[in-house]
Amino acid sequence: MFLSRLPRSLSSLALAVVGSIALAQPVPPQLSSNPGARYTIYLNFRGFNYNGTWGGRTPGNVPAYTIDGDPNTFNAEEVAAIRESWARTAQAYTGFNVNVTTVDPAPSNFTDAQRKTFYDNTQYLTHTIIGGSNSWYGNAGGVSYVAIAQQATTTGGRRTNWVFPVNTGTSPKRAMAAAIHEVGHHLRLLHQSDETSGAAYSNNNGATGNGSYAPIMGTSYVSQRGTWRMGKAGVNDNDVFELQQNLNIGSLLDSGVGHTLATATSMPLNGDGTINATQAKGWIMPTAASGYNANNYTTDYFRFTSIGGSFSLTAHDGTQFLEPGVADPGATGRATLKILDSNGNLVGSATEDASTLVRTWSGSLAAGTYYAQVSSYGAYISSYEPDSRYFNMGGYFLSGTGFAVPEPASMLALLGGLAVLVRRRRRAN
Ligand SMILES: [Zn+2]
Repeated sequence: MFLSRLPRSLSSLALAVVGSIALAQPVPPQLSSNPGARYTIYLNFRGFNYNGTWGGRTPGNVPAYTIDGDPNTFNAEEVAAIRESWARTAQAYTGFNVNVTTVDPAPSNFTDAQRKTFYDNTQYLTHTIIGGSNSWYGNAGGVSYVAIAQQATTTGGRRTNWVFPVNTGTSPKRAMAAAIHEVGHHLRLLHQSDETSGAAYSNNNGATGNGSYAPIMGTSYVSQRGTWRMGKAGVNDNDVFELQQNLNIGSLLDSGVGHTLATATSMPLNGDGTINATQAKGWIMPTAASGYNANNYTTDYFRFTSIGGSFSLTAHDGTQFLEPGVADPGATGRATLKILDSNGNLVGSATEDASTLVRTWSGSLAAGTYYAQVSSYGAYISSYEPDSRYFNMGGYFLSGTGFAVPEPASMLALLGGLAVLVRRRRRAN
């Protein structure tokens, strides 16, 4: 079967080479969220000279992602937008055994015609092209085949799917609302329909503004958050349960943070008694034991020592791929944060900021040992579609002040028998 297709690939080779030279595909920033993961989501912003037909249509020479109208180069704004787009997509798939990347997995000397065949023949791969308009396809923001992930090989470019930024809007929020959705189709997800009106795509009645949600597998272009959803039973799927049925992806990944008081992770700190936010991080996921129910999530624990006095701790929703200590746009989780004493009794629950949904606990803590407990808000339920449950799962990280910093182990060793001189470093605030 592949031999019979080979001549067609070769005959189109010369044309593809001419086309790609004329197009001079620009090179995007090379970014990968989880190299070595079981499944690869390749976001292609470079343009693609598509050989043959896709779904009965002819995509042709699709230009690179562009904001300024010049698809031959990526300007600074476009580079920033590609970085944000990658971060948004990686964030939506946090905790799944996937690598979201802008690095082309095909050999670098391949023509686009050869690439198309390479993608078709590479299992556990999605090739998502973000470029151009839907003029070759018809009215859509993107388009994809469904349930491709399990297939060893595909034909007809089925491993490739499409996002049309000319039609979605070129902003990372809008274009990636489509990209994350189309990738979901490859991973067997169907649409989240509107359980109230029956419309094929729910947008949660057009919800916008602070605290608004819409389903990724509906349309989430304008809501504050686009998340996976556990749809009304008998009407829509549980997105996360279905994603986990792609056995090649494997189980949800553990973030490595302790899930009990006894196994709590020591709070990563800087030398000045503030949290090292790039290390104090994890992700909160629905549990397999609960069948990936939107109401039940993992819980993470960090152990720390207060210096006594003014203290503040914040749980930020999201990853920090783009800038250390700053939450990437497009958070999918909504963390809860509690302070527990050394016996596990509640000291206080963090307060949520209404606009950002970020939670902070500030106050005075007596010196001593405490725990920070991070988990999920749980299912978000919209009054418009009361039988659907939005997942609040994804990455988080912590920041804060007022922590006692242990002496470095090397210093303790150096002092040896002079242990009497070893004192905890104290700081006035
Ligand atoms: Zn769709």
